[in-house]
Amino acid sequence: MDRCAVTRVLSVTSECAPLVKTGGLADVAGALPGALIGQGVRMRTLLPGYPDFLWKLRDPRVRAELPECFGGPARLLEARHAGLDLLILDAPHLFDREGGLYLGLDGRDWPDNPERFAALCWVASKIANGLLSDWQPDIVHGHDWQGALAPYFIARSPAAKQVRTVLTIHNIAFQGLAPAARLSALRLAPADFTSEGFEYYGKISMLKAGLIFADRITTVSPTYADELLTPEFGMGLEGVLQQRRSDLIGILNGIDLDVWSPEKDAHIIPYHNPVGKRPNKAVLRAEFRLPETVGPLCIVVSRLTAQKGLDLLLKALPVLLDHGGQLALLGTGDPELEAAFAKAAEHPNVSVRIGYDEWLAHRMIAGADAILVPSRFEPCGLTQLYGLRYGTLPLVALTGGLADTVIPATPATLAGNVVATGLQFHPIQAPALSNALARLCALYRQRELWHRMGRNAMAHPVGWDHSAAAYAALYKSLSGITQ
Ligand code: ADP
Repeated sequence: MDRCAVTRVLSVTSECAPLVKTGGLADVAGALPGALIGQGVRMRTLLPGYPDFLWKLRDPRVRAELPECFGGPARLLEARHAGLDLLILDAPHLFDREGGLYLGLDGRDWPDNPERFAALCWVASKIANGLLSDWQPDIVHGHDWQGALAPYFIARSPAAKQVRTVLTIHNIAFQGLAPAARLSALRLAPADFTSEGFEYYGKISMLKAGLIFADRITTVSPTYADELLTPEFGMGLEGVLQQRRSDLIGILNGIDLDVWSPEKDAHIIPYHNPVGKRPNKAVLRAEFRLPETVGPLCIVVSRLTAQKGLDLLLKALPVLLDHGGQLALLGTGDPELEAAFAKAAEHPNVSVRIGYDEWLAHRMIAGADAILVPSRFEPCGLTQLYGLRYGTLPLVALTGGLADTVIPATPATLAGNVVATGLQFHPIQAPALSNALARLCALYRQRELWHRMGRNAMAHPVGWDHSAAAYAALYKSLSGITQ
């Protein structure tokens, strides 16, 4: 097949900014369709119909009735919103409930999470098989375990002949495991419940189904693609990924340069260079009730989980404070970490907001001197990219996408024609983080060098251009479509 046409891609995702977001997946799913337009790719996005956003859609059209969709009736809606071309699985019995996207009000996974997202993938397969009379995708692109059964259902359907599939791993820590007893409820073939199929130590692994059956696997940075092949990072799926090594590629995430722009951001005092950040710093200090100090104002914007290495930051914090630095943190997550940071905030130079606040995140990234990302593993990471864009120097762990996006300050990168954009530390332990914080404070005192690094950071390409071209090339190579 070799056709000159627009490539039609159906993206299958459990979240998508600006409609519904718990983390970086939403940002990527929300930004990619726009970034691909110039690449000859038209992407539609299939999303669950969560009640929080359904009411925001103007004039959604019913495109299909699905009388029996994993335990109840459902409809497929079509709508446009914020430049996105949406298909929405409106299945109230699966998605219309109070609580989070994945967790109930008790903080536990919804017991029927496997069915909820199997339903989404099953509808993706229906669309690949002609559910909509006027549109059929060339490629179906699933994201994470929630989108991972789409390649499986398609591989086991007539569409396997003409529709190709891609699965992107945004975070392999989440694998969508279900008891074997749910095979028929999930509409999975018992014959595929083997170690060569989606069986994983006696359970169903929805992510593994995607890893086995997708035509190509991508992940969100080249370094994470390498790391996934190791027991340390592969989280039990390294063997499967090693088998599929030649089909696995790392494509870095970008950020939306219109949403994250120091020149145009409506939530900050706009600026064009690192020196211009100053008024935002005053606003941020006032907002967090932090006094003037001689050291850098550092921030964290993050989920508070073990992955993010923030327990290491708690241990290393005294070094930052001893050097006159400050910390402002915005995050929510593990109750223990929330309590530990609330306690740390008894220090006058530490201030903490427990919660999720998109616009506060913008003000923090604009006003701070540095952003700290000490993750134990980080598939790509977005906040260090926001930091670069806003001249807020990232101090990051040497892992995954953090390794791929920050040029660390070393004697070589600080010499002559300075190219450094931030700092990195390794091993990912508290003493190395403490040393990096001390180095950060020392660099901050060298004002000219600091601003130079800030300018480098702001000039570093963090948009989607390069990566959108890589996704487009992947889709086109799979579908045989050339421009
Ligand atoms: P992950 O997806 O693992 O949480 P990423 O760095 O890829 O990590 O993406 C996190 C996204 O969520 C970023 O856009 C970040 O700004 C946002 N975010 C995380 N926590 C908060 C919070 N408490 N308030 C506002 N935004 C947050």
